[in-house]
Amino acid sequence: MALIPWRSATVIGIENETPDTKRFRLRMDGIDDFQFLPGQFITLDLPIHEKATKRWRSYSIASWPNHTNEIELLIVLNPDGLGTPYLFNEVNIGDSLTYRGPQGVFVLPNSLDKPLFLICTGTGVAPFRSMVQYIHNNNIPHQGINLIYGCRKQQNLMYFEELKNLEKEMEGFRYIPTLSREVWEGKTGYVHDVYEALCQEQTTAMFFLCGWKFMIDEAKEKLLQLGFQKQDIHIELYG
Ligand SMILES: Cc1cc2nc3c(=O)[nH]c(=O)nc-3n(C[C@H](O)[C@H](O)[C@H](O)COP(=O)(O)OP(=O)(O)OC[C@H]3O[C@@H](n4cnc5c(N)ncnc54)[C@H](O)[C@@H]3O)c2cc1C
Repeated sequence: MALIPWRSATVIGIENETPDTKRFRLRMDGIDDFQFLPGQFITLDLPIHEKATKRWRSYSIASWPNHTNEIELLIVLNPDGLGTPYLFNEVNIGDSLTYRGPQGVFVLPNSLDKPLFLICTGTGVAPFRSMVQYIHNNNIPHQGINLIYGCRKQQNLMYFEELKNLEKEMEGFRYIPTLSREVWEGKTGYVHDVYEALCQEQTTAMFFLCGWKFMIDEAKEKLLQLGFQKQDIHIELYG
């Protein structure tokens, strides 16, 4: 397999999404139409270590393919990490970042002939925003899409207004945020209770799981116990 080349991108926007999450908008230099599939990621080479392999950090593309050279990343600060403190504290609009990509196989099948369950926590919502907006904007036929999104409190909800509005506009799309540390008008608890309840009467479905290991491991095990097939469970592990 040919090595994917490193290229440069210019930071054209940085916005706070939640108290510890930022949206980074990038313009891919020297490219008119940055082509990727919803669900794919890019890898940044950040100047944070002398060893190349210790400098690489991957981020799902949170925007959807739209025939431009601009993309958005949704990144949560890990105060104990190396990469995200650099991105949050050192990177400004106009700066150049080194990236390679798009990469990854966490993508939609050619035909959406089964109901989709998109299950995530935190910034794991990034590839699902891309997928759902892509399906909506291209009028792609589907059998129902459930986006089950877990975070701690209302202040941690990402793309909340956008996804709520999309639920009203898009037939068959359900956005189900659930909070683990705050009572509110929506669901409370972890994502597992939500999909377990929804899947009780489901005989066939396709699952996409995205986020950190503790959530993914538990969800995969529960879905297999519920009788779903391994080949219908797709995973993007952030770490
Ligand atoms: C394919 C892929 C796509 C990714 N997409 C995104 C994305 O869209 N947005 C995003 O914010 N991150 C994403 N990540 C994670 C990202 O690559 C980094 O691991 C993350 O930003 C932490 O980098 P760091 O250098 O600050 O911390 P490091 O110094 O690399 O982190 C130290 C340790 O903390 C763990 N860790 C870091 N953050 C968390 C967290 N929030 N919860 C639990 N454990 C954590 C790491 O697994 C690692 O073991 C993705 C990872 C992969 C592999």
